[in-house]
Amino acid sequence: MKLSIGRRIIFSFLLLTTASLSFLGVYLLDFFYQKNLATATAHLVTNARIIETTLENSLYDREKQQQVNDAIQKITESCELRVTILDGSGNVLADSWERADALDNHLDRQEVQGALSGNCATAIRYSGTVSQNMLYAALPVYQKERLVGIIRTATPLTPIETNYQTTRFFILSAICTTMLLTILVGLYLAHRHTRPIEEMTRTAKRIADGALHMRIHIHTRDEFEVLAHTINQLTSNLEDKIIESNAEAKKSALILENMDNAVLLLDCYGNISSANHSAKEIFQLTPDLMGRHSISVIGASTLSETAQEVLATKCSRSVNLRIRLQHTLKTFEVFFAPILQPDGTVDHVLSVFHDISALQEIYDRQVEFVTNASHELATPLTSIKGFSETLLDGALDNPELCRKFLTIIHAESERMARLVKDLLQLAKLDNKEYCRQIKLEQVDLKEICAAVRSKLAPALAQKNLTLRIALADETAPLRANRDWIMQLMMNLVENAVKYTPPEGSIELKTWQDAEFAFVSVKDSGIGIAPQDLPFIFERFYRTDKARSRAVGGSGIGLSLVRFIVEMFGGSITAQSQPNQGTTFTFSLPLHDAAKTDTPVPKNMH
Ligand code: ADP
Repeated sequence: MKLSIGRRIIFSFLLLTTASLSFLGVYLLDFFYQKNLATATAHLVTNARIIETTLENSLYDREKQQQVNDAIQKITESCELRVTILDGSGNVLADSWERADALDNHLDRQEVQGALSGNCATAIRYSGTVSQNMLYAALPVYQKERLVGIIRTATPLTPIETNYQTTRFFILSAICTTMLLTILVGLYLAHRHTRPIEEMTRTAKRIADGALHMRIHIHTRDEFEVLAHTINQLTSNLEDKIIESNAEAKKSALILENMDNAVLLLDCYGNISSANHSAKEIFQLTPDLMGRHSISVIGASTLSETAQEVLATKCSRSVNLRIRLQHTLKTFEVFFAPILQPDGTVDHVLSVFHDISALQEIYDRQVEFVTNASHELATPLTSIKGFSETLLDGALDNPELCRKFLTIIHAESERMARLVKDLLQLAKLDNKEYCRQIKLEQVDLKEICAAVRSKLAPALAQKNLTLRIALADETAPLRANRDWIMQLMMNLVENAVKYTPPEGSIELKTWQDAEFAFVSVKDSGIGIAPQDLPFIFERFYRTDKARSRAVGGSGIGLSLVRFIVEMFGGSITAQSQPNQGTTFTFSLPLHDAAKTDTPVPKNMH
């Protein structure tokens, strides 16, 4: 059980007072008792000596026994004194209180024994004769240096005992009164001294509970005031530090919550302990998923494996992670950092996800492009190399073979030239600086269509194809660049020529609304299979490589077309039915007189 300081003070006071007073009481009681006893003993001895001196001659004279007896009766009449005269053998010769012949031999009495040894002796005993406690003094009597008898004086102890009891009563009363006073004074002092402590304890508890604005107000001008001042200072420092760290924590939380990167905190078992807003959004983390293992949430074991490595080595690490999120393949560069505890242990790992999907895609595309371009160039080169080697090996001598091989070499080199030209055009459009410098001007669709017809007239005639041009009644000029629109139209119509069997037809149609001009290129050709349709605008995509190569295709034409249309702020679609024909429809913004020609086209990539 805990003792409060107040109780401890009272208890200590009480203990101290009771112990000291009891000691003092016992000491005084004994002192006064011994002193009274000594006084009474001295009186008894004095009386014995007086009797000895007074009755010296008649004391042991047989004939004067009655005289002695009367004398001691007289002496003791007025006082509480008993006198007994004994001979040297302990026989009672006279007694002031009893008849001498009725008393037995007193030789065995303690005081008598003491006196017989030659000294004055005393004893305290219960007297069977007078039935009370008595104080005895025995004085040996010598005649001619021979012990002839003993004078014994005695007095009841009652006055001394009464005195003793009275003194004891007073001392006990004093002790009780002092104890009572001590309790009262103790209570007062305890209250006085514990009040500041209680006040400090109360306030300190509230401070510990978080009320850091609380301060202790005591003015005792002693150590308590110094202590209170120190606690106030500590609290003030703590409050400042907490405000500071709260601000820091808020700042960090704000940064963490608003950063684009997903941040996950993993515990030593690989479970997700905490996640920022981006992480919740990217990984669709619902509250019930928190605390679950990262594999079940992210679906990749790399994460927990690397986290375990970081936990073991206590070193940061970075890994690339490819995962499928909501049917989209995402690439993250994940940075892992151990969270070191003050004791040097690591129980959590911080993982920061940097989304590099766009970069990865660019990189993948670059690789794919280089692979495709190399492949496309390698094929005609192999062909040219093969046929030229055959020619050198002797085919030159055969004019017919020679002509045939040279025709192939020429066709292949033309294909390569076309491919390189297309690639150069793509590279041009990929260059942002070049795109920015393209001059926007008024482009007349009618004129473009006429130019296309005249340029492709030989090809059309060769396959006996019909080209019909159906222009809108009033065609407003486009806001674009003539050369690139010419290129776009040529690509579309050339494709129509390439993929339409002889005797087929091609239709060029234009119309417009308030903002856009629309152009469709429709042919009655071989068409495109529905599964290929979504991919035809991609670089190097060809539905049938052999057929495309046969007609001199490179797989870049449509990707250039889409690039050009979107660069000038339009869009393009394709509809097709296998063996019935294909229609490409694109839109381009009309020229707005209010706008000046600026070299910055829309939707540039
Ligand atoms: P290519 O130089 O091979 O023609 P394009 O990018 O111009 O490359 O066309 C991509 C693919 O789309 C072609 O290989 C062809 O299979 C298909 N294609 C394009 N235009 C037509 C069309 N008018 N009719 C049928 N197929 C077409």
